[in-house]
Amino acid sequence: MTKEKLDFRDYPINWNERGGRKWVYAKKPSGKWFNRRTIVSWILLLFWIAVPFIRVNGNPLILLDIANRKFIIFGAIFWAQDTFILALLMLSFVLFVVLFTVTFGRLWCGWTCPQTIFLEMVFRKIEYLIEGDYRERHKLDNSPWTTNKIVKKALKHTIFILISVAMTNVFLMWFIGSERWLEMIQEPITQNISGFAVMLLVSAFFYWVYSFFREQICTMVCPYGRMQGVLLDSKSIAVTYDYVRGEPRGGHGDGDCTDCKQCISVCPTGIDIRNGSQLECVNCSACIDQCNKIMHVTGKPPGLIRYASEAQIKGQQNSIWNARNRAYSVVLLLIFSFFVYTLVSRPVLETTILRTPGLLYQEQDSTLSNVYNIKIVNKTHDELPLELRVISHKGKIQMAGNTMLLKDQDMYESTFILFLPKSEVTSDKTKVEFGVFSNNELIETYKATFVGP
Ligand code: SF4
Ligand code: SF4
Repeated sequence: MTKEKLDFRDYPINWNERGGRKWVYAKKPSGKWFNRRTIVSWILLLFWIAVPFIRVNGNPLILLDIANRKFIIFGAIFWAQDTFILALLMLSFVLFVVLFTVTFGRLWCGWTCPQTIFLEMVFRKIEYLIEGDYRERHKLDNSPWTTNKIVKKALKHTIFILISVAMTNVFLMWFIGSERWLEMIQEPITQNISGFAVMLLVSAFFYWVYSFFREQICTMVCPYGRMQGVLLDSKSIAVTYDYVRGEPRGGHGDGDCTDCKQCISVCPTGIDIRNGSQLECVNCSACIDQCNKIMHVTGKPPGLIRYASEAQIKGQQNSIWNARNRAYSVVLLLIFSFFVYTLVSRPVLETTILRTPGLLYQEQDSTLSNVYNIKIVNKTHDELPLELRVISHKGKIQMAGNTMLLKDQDMYESTFILFLPKSEVTSDKTKVEFGVFSNNELIETYKATFVGP
């Protein structure tokens, strides 16, 4: 490669020589692939908005309630005690992304990543509508502040702020649920000062990302983009320039590439796909559509830029289902099967009994007593009347407050006192075993320590 051709690797494409920001004025994309991406993005956007309102067995489809350490994923509830099962699910997801990337490159980035969907399908579309295509935008940004420019910029940024606030509120519903969100917006702000402050901060962050930082999230921040170098190989499918067919470019031989640079002008990250696989390429397929238009005009077949692997460009046979994918698939299948097994075989109740911190034993005539905190999570979809008994010793339990009636998928927290005859306490730390019963049936046992003299 010549020095000029290697220059693109010397500095980020959206930085100038002095290290300052170089704005990418991407041409408005259009074409077959863009239409397909638009449909996919609208489906995903609708799904994202609908999730907090969709109910499965009375619960939201997805709820990430970090404050109460309760996560609902497609109707299945995971509590803090289910961290291991959640970790298996996350591991399966990561492996799935790796397998998908090895096979289909950065399809995730261009088609399903929220950053790309919001930037390309929401914010940029509004920008094109108000400020026009790339040439008009460039001209507007470099023109003096006239009334026309002030009105356009004010209108655009007002809409951007409103969308950022709306996005934050939808995300908030994913974390607190739509019912709690509805309650919160009807309450005075003074009752939810911290929540309101977080909402403002997150909205400001979204506004800053989609108004100013933009594609730099993909090219400089996102760790997934950085992983491409180790995940992709010559058999991975990606948006690729067919240099065999295209070179020599610009009418200097038989190459189909006219060197019109239309593929660069439409690229949202401002790169030249003809330089080969690059970290900045989010596989959005805009350059495929744009190049196909040029091929149509010049009477050449489409697909000079297309979804293909390096091996396919070289004319080699390339099966998507190769040894590397098979190996990843087997590992993924094993981990996911283990996840399903642990999910279906997890206990119906999750009990935790701990001695109340800071309290020792109490002595009354012939008995000793200890105070305990109890937490029980009901993982079934049934309401369970529960009873706590000590099963290892002849003792008596005195519960504090209400009866132990646990609603489905609910959590019970309380305090109780265990009384043991002195004759039963054999050491200063006696192991005691509790049984949690429902309708006289033993559901779960739990061991704790009884402190004595
Ligand atoms: S759009 Fe196609 S023909 Fe034009 S420079 Fe890019 S690859 Fe070459
Ligand atoms: S090179 Fe093509 S596929 Fe990659 S980001 Fe640019 S326009 Fe999208």
